Amino acid sequence: MVNIIAIANQKGGVGKTTTAVNLAASLASMKHRVLLVDLDPQGNATMGCGIDKHSLDVTVCDLLLSDISPADCLKRIDEPSPGFDLLPSNADLTAAEIGLLDSPERERRLLKVLASAAGAYELIIIDCPPSLNMLTVNALVAAQGVLIPIQCEYYALEGLSSLVDTIEQIRASRNPELRIEGILRTMHDPRNNLANQVSTQLVTHFKGQVYRTVIPRNVRLAEAPSHGQSALLYDPLSKGSISYLALASELLRRLDKRLHAA
Ligand code: ATP
Ligand code: MG
Repeated sequence: MVNIIAIANQKGGVGKTTTAVNLAASLASMKHRVLLVDLDPQGNATMGCGIDKHSLDVTVCDLLLSDISPADCLKRIDEPSPGFDLLPSNADLTAAEIGLLDSPERERRLLKVLASAAGAYELIIIDCPPSLNMLTVNALVAAQGVLIPIQCEYYALEGLSSLVDTIEQIRASRNPELRIEGILRTMHDPRNNLANQVSTQLVTHFKGQVYRTVIPRNVRLAEAPSHGQSALLYDPLSKGSISYLALASELLRRLDKRLHAA
């Protein structure tokens, strides 16, 4: 069965896209069949995979607003071998967000798109925009799990409660399967006392929901997108790459545990 994971946090710049691209690359390098969905009009995940967002004929916008097949939109990202598939986006997706408002079943459009593609994949990772808009709602209706990246800083926890409330509302009204897959500490600097305090607060409050894997602040993770590559391809031995491989293993262990507990 396919596992669909939305990477969401309405706070900007917390590491959603970095996590989406590097998690997809890590899971793919472990020979899992992975689809990465860029659901952000910024198209950062698309560019980060080396696809020029300005030269796209078909994007996720077309999938959401018309009945074309996901196969007509897919891009193959060959490396790291054996690679993964990408549904790319660009600024057109802003139009989709508005177009969806008049569309029947406007919250279930992405679910329908992914249902027609899901058979080919074990894992689908959705990179959400930094807002709780109709696109993010579509991701939360389609997903089984939400991975929440958090940068451990003073305002990090602000806004987390509205995300958790939104997840609970969608679970109650649209998607009973939805759960918090895990909370991921990103861009962590262990020399920063405040980061350590916020990190401890997170674990006290969210306990086992916080991943043991912590993503360090690592310059290779920041450089890789400008080369259109995942960090795993750009510098496989960097601390950033190794931490995302560890996250992929932890995520797979958790999914496996849940499957056997069910
Ligand atoms: P947005 O909300 O705009 O979509 P985001 O949550 O997707 O942002 P990213 O784009 O992944 O966040 O990261 C924000 C910036 O921080 C980027 O420049 C990225 O390269 C950098 N960055 C992300 N994670 C790390 C890290 N662990 N170490 C160093 N730099 C990082
Ligand atoms: Mg992003």
